[in-house]
Amino acid sequence: MRIIDSFRLDGRVAVVTGAGKGIGEGIAVGLAEAGADLALVARTRADLERVAETIRAGGRRAIAVPCDLADVAAIPATVRQIVDAYGRIDILVNCAGIQRRMTVLEATVEGWEQVINTNLRSVYFMTQAAGKVMVEQRRGKIISIASMTAYRGFHMISPYGISKAGIANFTRYLAVEWAPYNIQANAIAPGWIRTPMTAQMGEDRIRWVCEHVPQGQFGSPRDVAGLAVFLASPAADYITGQTIPVDGGFLAGNPWPTTSSQP
Ligand code: NAD
Repeated sequence: MRIIDSFRLDGRVAVVTGAGKGIGEGIAVGLAEAGADLALVARTRADLERVAETIRAGGRRAIAVPCDLADVAAIPATVRQIVDAYGRIDILVNCAGIQRRMTVLEATVEGWEQVINTNLRSVYFMTQAAGKVMVEQRRGKIISIASMTAYRGFHMISPYGISKAGIANFTRYLAVEWAPYNIQANAIAPGWIRTPMTAQMGEDRIRWVCEHVPQGQFGSPRDVAGLAVFLASPAADYITGQTIPVDGGFLAGNPWPTTSSQP
């Protein structure tokens, strides 16, 4: 295969959770542009149908599969519905996630469980359910959306950061356990990306981000989609267990203030 052809996903079936908006939507459309057929999973059918229409307009197949992934009991039936429709699952992108603000001192068990169950428990059991199909096929790609918060502390989002660190470590365990089945598992750690999740950020925090990210701006869902397409493709067949940042350089280091008079 020519190296350029190994980036294509023609004939592959991809499942994307959280595909109704934001990063998940960007990844789903990107995978379809690379040739994959899509199963779109999130809570709101109307959002999923809108994304499915975009994908169908581009010539690929797409189905909307509404599911609340915080309800772990609903996951096996969701995966069965996708296998009934397509007969296989080649790529799983775990993107659904929420952020809730709470200090460590004020956190409640309810708030903790809401974040951990949506962001981490659902990833574990969605991967288990889709993984059973991939093990049978002896082929698969798992891509989970972690975050730079897996590596650095921030104010008021400790359960979120813990859930994302869990995703990064789960990815290593998957790489080891499922290598014999020709399944590769990787994660993406986005920095600040323009989506509905970051849309409510205040002016002062937006300015802080732009001053501390070396590239000086937020990323877009397309920036994350580029890496997801690569990791889903045969071009990445020898890459597994990694969590790769897409963060404009934030984890690499922070620039001096532009107002600094020092060299
Ligand atoms: P978003 O709020 O714009 O979209 C989240 C998607 O997840 C939506 O489609 C929503 O319906 C779905 N979802 C949420 N809870 C769900 C549930 N219980 N069941 C099914 N679907 C559910 O968020 P986004 O900014 O696009 O974030 C997507 C992922 O990327 C999340 O995991 C988030 O933590 C991660 N992330 C985002 C950023 C950022 O800057 N936006 C940075 C790092 C990581």
